[in-house]
Amino acid sequence: MVVQLFNTDGRTIQEFKPLVPGRVGMYTCGPTVYNFSHIGNLRTYIFEDLLRRALEYAGYDVTHVMNVTDVGHLTDDGDSGEDKIVKSARERGRSVWEIAEMYTAAFFRDIELLGIERPTVVCRATDHIPEMIALAGRLEERGLTYRAGGNLYYDISRFPEYGRMALLDRQELQAGARVEIDANKRNPRDFALWFTSSKFEHQAMQWDSPWGRGYPGWHLECSAMSMKYLGERFDIHCGGVDHIPVHHTNEIAQSEGATGAKWVSYWIHGEFLLLDRAKMARSSGRFVTLSDLAERGVEPADYRYFCLGAHYRSQLQFSDEALEAARNARRGLAERMSRLREEAEPAASEGLSERSRGYLDEFRGAIALDLGSPRALSALWGLLKDSGVRAGEKLAAAFEMNRVLGLDLSEEPAESASEVDQGTLDLVRERERSRKEGDYARADAIRERLRSQGIAVEDTPQGTKWSRVK
Ligand code: AMP
Ligand code: ZN
Repeated sequence: MVVQLFNTDGRTIQEFKPLVPGRVGMYTCGPTVYNFSHIGNLRTYIFEDLLRRALEYAGYDVTHVMNVTDVGHLTDDGDSGEDKIVKSARERGRSVWEIAEMYTAAFFRDIELLGIERPTVVCRATDHIPEMIALAGRLEERGLTYRAGGNLYYDISRFPEYGRMALLDRQELQAGARVEIDANKRNPRDFALWFTSSKFEHQAMQWDSPWGRGYPGWHLECSAMSMKYLGERFDIHCGGVDHIPVHHTNEIAQSEGATGAKWVSYWIHGEFLLLDRAKMARSSGRFVTLSDLAERGVEPADYRYFCLGAHYRSQLQFSDEALEAARNARRGLAERMSRLREEAEPAASEGLSERSRGYLDEFRGAIALDLGSPRALSALWGLLKDSGVRAGEKLAAAFEMNRVLGLDLSEEPAESASEVDQGTLDLVRERERSRKEGDYARADAIRERLRSQGIAVEDTPQGTKWSRVK
C-alpha cells in the first residue's frame, strides 16, 4: 500500500518514503498538562492515531514518540505571559508537580478511552533538562543565540531558512511587524531557549545551566526529545495547525540550526475543531471535555467516529446535532456487527470473495490517499449493507478496516447471543435507546425488569454491558 500524505513543508500531497525501508519515526507534540484536554485537542490526537494506524496497516514498523509538556509553556505561544502549569497550580492551590501528574494521568485515560494507541515512547520535559541544555549549548556554539536580560535567545536572523515550512514572509520578519512585549529581543520573532530567574522569580521548577538557574523555553523540549529518541533526521512530525507559525517553525530553527542539516521529511497538521465558528480553546473558557460528553450520553468511540467523519485537514464544527448523528451511526455500526457475530464467525481472509475484497480495496485507497477517513467509513458501510456479501466475510473485512479506524465495534465475541433469548437482548437495546433519548425513567424501569430476569446492566464509557446475576 503506497501512502500519500499532505506535507505542510511544500504544501503538496507526496508519496510517503521512509528514511529506512519498512520503518517510520514519528513525533507528535503532546499535551501541556495544566488542565483537562478538551475535545479539540483530542481531535488532533485522534488524527495522529489514524496516521499511525494507517502506517502500521501499510506494513511499517512505527516508532511513535510523544512528549508531555510539564514545564515552560507560557500562556502565550510567544514568550510572554506566565507558565501555564504554575498558573494552574496557584489557582488550584496545588504544587506544580501535583498538577502535572494529575493532568498527565487524565490525558492518558482520555486517549485510552478513545482507542488511541499508546505512543512507543512518552517523554516528559522535566526528565530531559540536560538534553535541552546540551541542545541550547550547541546553538550557542554555532553562533545562533544571544544573551539578554539573563535569558538565552535564538537569533532568527542567523538562520536564513527561518519560516520556510510556515511560508512566513521574510520582509515582514525583518521589519518585525508583530508587537512584542519582551524588550530583550532583537527581533520580535526571536524566542527564548532558556529563562533565568530574572524573568520569573517565582518559577517553582528550576535547574542550573550555563546561563544561570532557570528553566527552558517551550520549543526546546520537542527538538531535544525527538532527536534523542528518533535521531537527528526522522520521518514525520505532527501537531495541530496552530503550531505551524510559531512552535514548529521554532523547532525547525533549533534542530536544523544545531545539526546544519534537514531534520524532518513530512510535516502533517490537523485542522481545528470549532465551537461557534471559533477554535475550541481552553484559554477562552468555552470548551468541552470527554466527561462533558459522557454526561450527555456520548461515548468516546462516538466522538472518535464523529472526528473520522471529517477529513483531518478540514475544520470541523462541533454541534449537538452532528454529534448525535455520529453517535447513532457508530452505535448502528456496533449493533450490525454484533448481529453479524450472532450469525457467523469471521471468515478467513484468504477466503474473501471478489466482492468483499472490492470494499477492502476501496477502503485502502481512501486511507492511502492522505487519510481519507470519510470515504473509508463509507466503504465500511457499503460492505455492511451489501446483501450479496456473507456475514462471515463482512465480519472479517470490517475487523480488518477497524484496525485502522479503531472504533469500538464489539470485536469480542458477543457472550450474549447464545446465552440469552432475543427478548432479553431487545430489552437491553431498548433501555439503551431510552437513555440516549434522555428518558431515564423508562431506562430505569427496564433495568429493574431485566434485574427481575436475572440480568444486571451497567453503563460504561464503552457502552452498556450486561451480565447474568449469579
Ligand atoms: P496543548 O495541550 O495546548 O499544547 O494542545 C495539544 C494539541 O491540541 C496541539 O497539537 C494543538 O495544536 C491541538 N489543538 C488545540 N486546540 C485545538 C482545536 N480546537 N482543534 C484541534 N486541535 C487543537
Ligand atoms: Zn512540540
